[in-house]
Amino acid sequence: MISVSLISLGCAKNLIDSEIMVGHLLAAGMQVIPEAAKADVVIVNTCSFIDSAKEESIQTILEANEQRGLRKRRRDQKLIVAGCMSQRFAKELPGEMPEVDAFIGLDQVTKIVPLIEKLFDHERARGEAPVTEINRRSTFIPDFDTPRFRLTPRHFAYVKIAEGCNHPCTFCIIPQIRGRHRSRTIESVVREARQLVAEGVKELNLISQDTTYFGMDRWSEHAGPRAKLDSARGDTLALLLRELNAIEGDFWIRLLYTHPAHWSDELIRTIAECPKIARYVDMPLQHISDHMLGKMQRETSSKHIRDLVRAIRAGIPGITLRTTFIVGFPGETEADFAELLAFIRQTRFERLGVFRYSQEEGTRAAKSAEQLPDKLKEQRFHAAMALQQSIARELGTNEVGRTLRVLVEAPGIARAMGDAPDIDGRVFVARALPVSEFADVTINGVRDYDLLALPRGEHPARSVAPKPAR
Ligand code: SF4
Repeated sequence: MISVSLISLGCAKNLIDSEIMVGHLLAAGMQVIPEAAKADVVIVNTCSFIDSAKEESIQTILEANEQRGLRKRRRDQKLIVAGCMSQRFAKELPGEMPEVDAFIGLDQVTKIVPLIEKLFDHERARGEAPVTEINRRSTFIPDFDTPRFRLTPRHFAYVKIAEGCNHPCTFCIIPQIRGRHRSRTIESVVREARQLVAEGVKELNLISQDTTYFGMDRWSEHAGPRAKLDSARGDTLALLLRELNAIEGDFWIRLLYTHPAHWSDELIRTIAECPKIARYVDMPLQHISDHMLGKMQRETSSKHIRDLVRAIRAGIPGITLRTTFIVGFPGETEADFAELLAFIRQTRFERLGVFRYSQEEGTRAAKSAEQLPDKLKEQRFHAAMALQQSIARELGTNEVGRTLRVLVEAPGIARAMGDAPDIDGRVFVARALPVSEFADVTINGVRDYDLLALPRGEHPARSVAPKPAR
């Protein structure tokens, strides 16, 4: 039996591609094992979003190759490279990394089994190594019945509702890698969600490159005039959310990666009216100054963003807002950055990530003559993060004494509705509560971005908070 080990790098969208590959391998009777050193085949599913992710991917491939060279028994081990980097550099990589046995693009994740079989057949026949055709732009989108083996813990799952992106953000390479936006049907997503809830999943994390664009591509196939399309902004996602909310069971639905351009009043109303939708919204804004939003081609404006944030806060009481900003984008002036800091100070985002601008080959912003020095990017990054840290501490302190519903991740570690997996903080509970279940806890302390808690009704004097493991 062929054994395969898979190393998944990058974001949750890439993780789903890994899950699809593992699902196909298992369905074909192959063995999937954690130890790369013992496997017949090692697959590295790469990320290529920014330079540092690319470097990590290259490093991982080189290490996997080095490891097989060290083990006599494993010198015939096959090395396959998949994912965004493989897709992005489809032409260059085979020449630059001859040690890799095969590269596959994003559209070939479901073809992993025949590829592996071909690799071994080729060895037996001593023929030409198989060549995989990688489309320039990816078009694949999984369905509810696409074989998949979840690699997340039992209690949460990522659900890819769409793939690709139609936006022209000048700093971003994603549309060139992942292709045009394509949505799944509402029915397909609902069938998958029903199955996951039946398996005991307590949190469905809806993901795509642009979640608020969900369904707008399919809708326009039947819509006709452009005016009608505009009036449907965000409404298809609202329709999906109402159907997911109607699935029986005790679970959260979390919205990740929403673009500010496609929000609608109906979407805000839907979140407010559907109790299973987490009072949590992830909305990457990237900047607030019109000067920067224009240069980034974010297809939105400072006024639109400010009005939208106000409308979301007013329409969904108790909402946790997560966003990300880029600092040091080409041409960012002191005034632009001051405007950003003032906006962060004023809006008091509950969760916020800051990225230093990364000059990505192949993007329009990379060609700009207004690049800023790394030192300035670094200074702005630290200034924005320091501000957010003080806001987060204040907001965390306000939580002390409140009782929150949490999802228990591991003994002593839980997450509240306002914390997405992998990116946000945790709630450290001073008792081991049943894992993968919901529990009520009372917050009794703050530690950086995390909260400390006791099971509801317990007395603080009897407890010692465990030290966080990170
Ligand atoms: S919305 Fe912009 S940043 Fe996000 S994936 Fe699309 S092009 Fe990239």
